[in-house]
Amino acid sequence: MVEEKRDTTPLVVGVDLGGTQIRASVLRGAELLSRANTLTGENPTPERVLPRLFATVEQAIEQAGISPEEISGIGIACPGPLNNRTGEILSPPNLPGWDHTPLRTLFQERYQVPIYVENDANVAALGEYMFGAGQGCNEMVYLTISTGIGGGVIAGGQILEGVAGMAGELGHITIDWRGPICNCGNIGCLERLASGTGIALEAQEAIAQGKAEELLEYARQTNVPPTQIDARVIGEAAKAGVPVARDIIEKAGEALGFGLVNIIHIFNPEKIILGGGLTQMGDILLQPAYRIVEKRTMREPHNCASIALARLGANVGLIGAGALVYHLNR
Ligand SMILES: [Zn+2]
Repeated sequence: MVEEKRDTTPLVVGVDLGGTQIRASVLRGAELLSRANTLTGENPTPERVLPRLFATVEQAIEQAGISPEEISGIGIACPGPLNNRTGEILSPPNLPGWDHTPLRTLFQERYQVPIYVENDANVAALGEYMFGAGQGCNEMVYLTISTGIGGGVIAGGQILEGVAGMAGELGHITIDWRGPICNCGNIGCLERLASGTGIALEAQEAIAQGKAEELLEYARQTNVPPTQIDARVIGEAAKAGVPVARDIIEKAGEALGFGLVNIIHIFNPEKIILGGGLTQMGDILLQPAYRIVEKRTMREPHNCASIALARLGANVGLIGAGALVYHLNR
């Protein structure tokens, strides 16, 4: 008799704790066996959110039709900064009131399995490394470009942590030291120049200076109020040929390109993986970036590096959180 081949990959729980949403899944490798969601809600203090967080985890386990004893670990992705060794959340801008919350300890008191906590950008990097576009690349950098810009570095097949787990703040490398002020208090950061928020700010500034009449006209025609002109609208306007929108996106793409040049020079990666919603703009944002990379990178490290789009899409947080368990349980 031929035995049926069974997948013996252990079951894990991935948790993605965001500023607006909590998501949890039971996973086998990169396969989501269940998914549970809830909103983080108004005034998301730990006292309010933790019961919902646990309920979401337990709902995911129940939906998968398994018992908690079958889980070999829980990985949690959450906004940084945090101490990934103690699992303590430090002072996340996206989760006000969570300063010094011992998230790992709180989970450990409830679940008798290994618990791992890591910042969302590192989790996404690990997810793409183990199950996505970075498979087989022990030297890779992941960059997520959405409302903000975050990064995670895989060096020698491990998450590059630095002395206190805070390496890889790639959104806050300086691109224009005489440029505009960033959310972090610094000047001319990559995030300020090339994120969705940065692009929207550039447009608002152009509007305030009276230089964006065509963009306002495009918004009127597409029923978008001027205050809601965000990166998505500007990207669409650019594709429709609105010159000021094209200029704004091109400038953001060039800033991204200089960020990539710095990343290649510092890390000598085999692959840089670009994720996050803004990559969906495609060539209009990415071609200016690639053009700068071609022109400004030293030849040898340039020849080693390829740039690819992320593969895990919106599930990268869950798959990466699960990957954390596989990676660290070894
Ligand atoms: Zn910054």
